[in-house]
Amino acid sequence: MAGLDNNSDNIDENGSEVVSRNFIEQIIDNDLEEGKYEKIVTRFPPEPNGYLHIGHAKSIILNSGIAKQYNGTFNFRFDDTNPTKEKTEFVDSILEDVRWLGADFGDKIYYASDYFDDMYEAAVKLINKGKAYVCDLSADEIRQYRGTLKEPGKESPYRNRSIEENLDLFERMKNGEFPDGSKVLRAKIDMASPNINMRDPVIYRIARMEHHRTGDKWCIYPMYDFAHPIEDAVEGVTHSLCTLEFEDHRPLYDWVVKELEYEFPPKQIEFAKLYLQNVITGKRYIKKLVEDKIVDGWDDPRLVTISALRRKGVTPEAIRMFIELSGISKANSVSDMAMLEYCIREDLRMKAKRFMAVIDPIKLVIDNYPEGESELLEVENNQENEELGKREVSFSRELYIEREDFMEEPPKKYFRLFPGNEVRLKNAYFVTCTDYVKDESGKVVEVHCTYDPATKSGSGFEGRKVKGTIHWVDAGTAVDATVRLYENLIAEGDEVLNDDYSNLNPNSLVEMKNCKLEEAFSDACPGERYQFLRHGFFCVDSKDSSQDNLVFNRIVSLKSSYKPGK
Ligand code: ATP
Ligand code: MG
Repeated sequence: MAGLDNNSDNIDENGSEVVSRNFIEQIIDNDLEEGKYEKIVTRFPPEPNGYLHIGHAKSIILNSGIAKQYNGTFNFRFDDTNPTKEKTEFVDSILEDVRWLGADFGDKIYYASDYFDDMYEAAVKLINKGKAYVCDLSADEIRQYRGTLKEPGKESPYRNRSIEENLDLFERMKNGEFPDGSKVLRAKIDMASPNINMRDPVIYRIARMEHHRTGDKWCIYPMYDFAHPIEDAVEGVTHSLCTLEFEDHRPLYDWVVKELEYEFPPKQIEFAKLYLQNVITGKRYIKKLVEDKIVDGWDDPRLVTISALRRKGVTPEAIRMFIELSGISKANSVSDMAMLEYCIREDLRMKAKRFMAVIDPIKLVIDNYPEGESELLEVENNQENEELGKREVSFSRELYIEREDFMEEPPKKYFRLFPGNEVRLKNAYFVTCTDYVKDESGKVVEVHCTYDPATKSGSGFEGRKVKGTIHWVDAGTAVDATVRLYENLIAEGDEVLNDDYSNLNPNSLVEMKNCKLEEAFSDACPGERYQFLRHGFFCVDSKDSSQDNLVFNRIVSLKSSYKPGK
């Protein structure tokens, strides 16, 4: 792509470049060569019954990427033909997510419900061709008549109604003359087909339901397998890319577009869903977590809904990189969260300013630094990216350091602060630990040290070397903040979350309340991302953060277990 490729660029024996195409691109290339279509049209058709997740991002990026690559069009369409579960809340969130991901749909929004008239007419056309009939069997009877994988189905006693009778009954179904569930319209295909989907599938049902856009205009609604190919055909979609579970439905898709005699019939192509190892992706499962209040709404940063990833601080560019790295294929596979985290780090490495933040603070007092004085140190915002400029960081006699950067009795290979040891304070001076103070409970509350004025960072000091460098924040100008640390929802070692939530990871959210941040953070705005030196990447929470109470979400730590090309 322009998007999703497992395309690797190779050079063949003659030295010319060979670009391998993924299987979808190969199909499209062929179709174009054979002159089947003039222009490529793809679509993304979410059902507005929940929030989009990282799996949907794959579909959005694939479909919009293909359209872009072939100079075609990408249609964004709400598949809102089933009013029971659909809500306007979901319509709004889905739109926001698709826009945020950067998919270009030209700002036209399609609604499947706009085609209810076309679908009704299509059904009438089938009846007129003798290809559909009204059936009075109950849902249970239809199931019994359907047969099994081993046995053929049995024909409905209503299968041979006349065209006139079917036209009359179907119109009366539409006019509300029959109770819900008393009749259905079925396609007349083949009750002996080895594919159960082809055994006279139901294509219309009676259901008195209020629709979020058409209100109570309709009391009959089309079934998905009938509606979807019509939606595609009406919009001139050429390649209808969907996930593997629809493979067995393709013969029915093809039957519908053939019987309705569309001039340029769309083509369904299936690809494998995106799954993440040990992470809850399905809409149904996420919905349950939200409803059971295990998480704080659909955008809880522990989820992988698009809105949760956005709130956590993940960038659309990182999601795109991750989807491209995962590739497109017809075989189901599971991707690793570590790969997404790798993409996030790669994307933010150069973009984010690197500031100092102490998450679990303890006081460090420099006994030989003059009381009441302070100085400003000039520091680069990102050592790898000069464009992000410089800032001044204040330094004085009292600082905060991380509790874990001091130990009374250190093990071997501990190079940070302990009595008698010298370390570098990042961007500042060398300090040597001289003493520490404990409270009644034996907890260390203050560490004392002396500094060496000759060792100022940037002064060209070439004297002693030290093994440890720690970060710090000036106590006099520190900004208070809450920092939220996230881990996987499922306890380590387990693959799925138990229904009774007994293996929920108790540390999936750890909230650190008294964090001390350097002054430069004081004008951090919701949604802004930073690197906290030595900790990871963090984002100002868009819901709970305010000027007097900054709240940060950890996007990802700096440690990585993923190696590209692994
Ligand atoms: P879920 O599987 O989470 O319940 P869904 O398939 O019911 O989601 P839809 O709104 O029907 O959600 O999906 C819209 C489009 O997104 C469909 O074309 C569907 O195939 C695709 N899609 C859904 N889940 C994934 C996934 N994990 N990976 C790739 N595409 C997906
Ligand atoms: Mg679905």
